[in-house]
Amino acid sequence: MPHQQWNPSPEQSDHALRLVHQSMVIDLHAHPQAIMPKFVRRTAEKRLGLPHDPLDNLPAAGINYAVVTAVGDRLGTGWRVGKSPMAAVEAQLTAATVEARLITEPTNTCAGTTRIILGVEGADFLGHDLTRLHDLHQRGVRLVGLMHYADNALGTIATTITGRERARDRRRGLTTFGREFLGELNHLGMVADLAHADKDTTITACEVSTKPVIASHTAALAVRDFRRYISDEEIHAIAATGGLIGLWPASMRGKAMRDLDDFARHASHIAELVGVAHLAVGTDKNGVPDYADGYTASPDMINLAAALLKHGFDDNDVVAILGGNAHRVLQQQPDDAPPSPPTHNEHTLRSDGTDCE
Ligand SMILES: [Zn+2]
Repeated sequence: MPHQQWNPSPEQSDHALRLVHQSMVIDLHAHPQAIMPKFVRRTAEKRLGLPHDPLDNLPAAGINYAVVTAVGDRLGTGWRVGKSPMAAVEAQLTAATVEARLITEPTNTCAGTTRIILGVEGADFLGHDLTRLHDLHQRGVRLVGLMHYADNALGTIATTITGRERARDRRRGLTTFGREFLGELNHLGMVADLAHADKDTTITACEVSTKPVIASHTAALAVRDFRRYISDEEIHAIAATGGLIGLWPASMRGKAMRDLDDFARHASHIAELVGVAHLAVGTDKNGVPDYADGYTASPDMINLAAALLKHGFDDNDVVAILGGNAHRVLQQQPDDAPPSPPTHNEHTLRSDGTDCE
């Protein structure tokens, strides 16, 4: 029997709408539709019900920043037959930029816009070459997820793509090279994302990092036993770096969140543990087959806000969770940067779909 439709009250909806459109809203984890070839995308939308959620709906949804992420493990680079893994990531970043009809100059003067921050999920494509990290930084990438769906030179993963945990006796945790890599990310002012990392990798990375780290799309294992979620120990470790847990409204065929009351329950648990200052939102736009009841695509950011209001979060809390906290953490700068306003090498989209002048 289908789950009963999740709906906020009309008052909560109105209130949420105002908050979303009046405050800084950030999606910490999104993908372009071009993450996969068009024919695969079309089939997935039709057969698996993968939501149709183009990047150009972000401005009207009131989302001011989105971290738009290429996939750097074999899952993301394997489609690009004949290309090296690095070239395959480059191609995705270019496709993301084209899809969003982006401009190359950052601007602060264009109202009703979304700024795109480029990220990569799964550092497998970098191999053991740290200089490539500099190339990525030059290209405008400001956030790197260490792990995706395979163990790599940096560390070990929480689950494979089928949701299975890896064998218990295998090597676990952040490698020596993983520590160097993290040092270089810190040095360059690129944000380290530990979503998909296993507990050992996450805890050590939090100890090693000199700057705030994030888990961009996850939730609390203590609220629901789902293997991509993180333990209270990991939540404490991430918060101790000054970092963020990005709440992930994915349903994953009912194994993760069922509806947005669940979403708010995860938020409440994490807020009780470490405080509201360590919460954010990572929707995984274009990256998951199905969402918790009440969320389908970016315009439903309002429902995430309404769910938080319904569960007792006040306006300041909601504004912090929707983007205020993420804005703080995304300000990371290179160690040798002169004191100046942050430059994200952002690209801007306007709500009417045209580029900003
Ligand atoms: Zn992911």
